[in-house]
Amino acid sequence: MTEIIDGNAVAQSIRDDLATAIDQLADAGHTPTLATVLMSDDPASETYVSMKQSDCEEVGIEALDIDIDPDADAAKLYDTVSDLNADEDVNGILVQMPVPDHVSDRQVLRAIDPRKDVDGFHPENVGRLVAGDARYKPCTPHGIQKLVESAGVDTEGKEAVVVGRSDIVGKPMANLFIQKAPGGNATTTVCHSRTEDLPQKTREADILVAAAGVPEMIDGEMVKDGATVIDVGINRVDADNDKGYELVGDVEFESTKEKASAITPVPGGVGPMTRAMLLYNTVKATGLQHDVTVDLP
Ligand code: NDP
Repeated sequence: MTEIIDGNAVAQSIRDDLATAIDQLADAGHTPTLATVLMSDDPASETYVSMKQSDCEEVGIEALDIDIDPDADAAKLYDTVSDLNADEDVNGILVQMPVPDHVSDRQVLRAIDPRKDVDGFHPENVGRLVAGDARYKPCTPHGIQKLVESAGVDTEGKEAVVVGRSDIVGKPMANLFIQKAPGGNATTTVCHSRTEDLPQKTREADILVAAAGVPEMIDGEMVKDGATVIDVGINRVDADNDKGYELVGDVEFESTKEKASAITPVPGGVGPMTRAMLLYNTVKATGLQHDVTVDLP
């Protein structure tokens, strides 16, 4: 029987388990606070931000919601980040991507105080992750580590194949898999749009992470028997329903399920974990900033 990895359930258990750390912070007089900054009128970005805020409220993290007109000067965003860096009541800062074309996303990420960079995208935090001394693991790959662990899969010595090399998913995922640490020690291959003979690479994978953003590009023919398949993709495709679209992953679920020993669905797999690990990083950040030792899940 193939295990369908329930990301909603694993995310809920992470949220439940964060209560201990949040209580420890409360005992020391601190409430974790996450500032979300939205400079966009894209409905998907608005939805992501509002979901992150309601997640915060559910676990007892304060959410500070800052909206910036997408037509405003880039300086407005940098000034906002600078104010949040200086605000001692703010522990985590998340600037929702993408930002408008006239703003440099790279410059924004560098402007965030690395101690408050709960996305883990600041170069200092990227460097620490690569060096095996992660401060904040980026939320999506960290969530994937937790999902793989929840399925009872030990990564040590396994062949891990990551399809995609973005800064937010593919690269940090590969970096976590190669660390000499729990959830790592995998022999890791990173594939991308220039990879020759992708199916030959994916068929080698004991653990396959699909993060290309191409609807259902991985099918059962590309997967080894017994593999653990993690589908990161969230793609809108036209559908004959009220919304006019549906969400599909990068993995063709039915044919892949026949081969895999465990697989994440879309939706309900990686997505909820990305959100849960943001809460985790915000709580961790609060402990680090106030020098309070917290027990994290
Ligand atoms: P990017 O577009 O930044 O990166 C996609 C990567 O996939 C690139 O490295 C690209 O290669 C590679 N790629 C594209 N097409 C192919 C192909 N045909 N064969 C092999 N490699 C290919 O995407 P993200 O990493 O930001 O996101 C990936 C997907 O994950 C998206 O669907 C996104 O919506 C989703 N996502 C989901 C999250 C969640 O929480 N569930 C969180 C973040 C993202 P190259 O570098 O050569 O261009």
